[in-house]
Amino acid sequence: FFISFEGGDGVGKSTQSRLLGEWLREVTGREVVWTREPGGTDLGLVLRQAVLHGDHMDPRTEALLYAADRAHHVASLIRPALSRGDVVITDRYLDSSIAYQAGGRTLAIDEVENLSLWATQGLLPQVTILLDLDPRAGAARLTEAPDRLESAGDEFHQRTRQAFLDRAAQDPGRWVVLDAAASIETIATQIRRAVTDRLGL
Ligand code: C5P
Repeated sequence: FFISFEGGDGVGKSTQSRLLGEWLREVTGREVVWTREPGGTDLGLVLRQAVLHGDHMDPRTEALLYAADRAHHVASLIRPALSRGDVVITDRYLDSSIAYQAGGRTLAIDEVENLSLWATQGLLPQVTILLDLDPRAGAARLTEAPDRLESAGDEFHQRTRQAFLDRAAQDPGRWVVLDAAASIETIATQIRRAVTDRLGL
């Protein structure tokens, strides 16, 4: 099984993806690989550092760095884990590029999508959980100092949120959209229910 978590900053993706991983380990008895983008691999950490803490970057450069991180992530970690029969849960995947590099940075959606599909050789998650929240509420929850992108303007984050919602509406078979303002327990229960249904557990 391959599951991704998407949404803006501070919506609770890492908390919820880890909770789901623990639960899936118990109910399926399988190994669960938890990972994230950018930075799920050693090379990815170098790319993460470059993209988040570098100087101002042209949007195409940024898109290519995320795509490079993703290509390596899929080839070296995600595909091998799926071939072993492990469950893979990733905190962000290619839909983040549609939301940030296309929605946020206004590159063309089809170009960003094709770049990601090329990078991943077309690997899509079976289920994608979108934790949707007003970006201002998300920003208020962040505890660490904002990185270069988290401190981008409000309009950038509103466009990003809308891009996630539009993309989810186009493929309801893959996406589960949840209100991230609810409590951790409520959201965790909704996620378990949705994953049980979608994956036929
Ligand atoms: O989720 P995480 O905090 O690790 O993401 C790091 C930063 O990268 C966030 O500020 C997020 O907005 C940004 N990002 C991006 N484009 C992506 C993935 C993440 O701008 N494709």
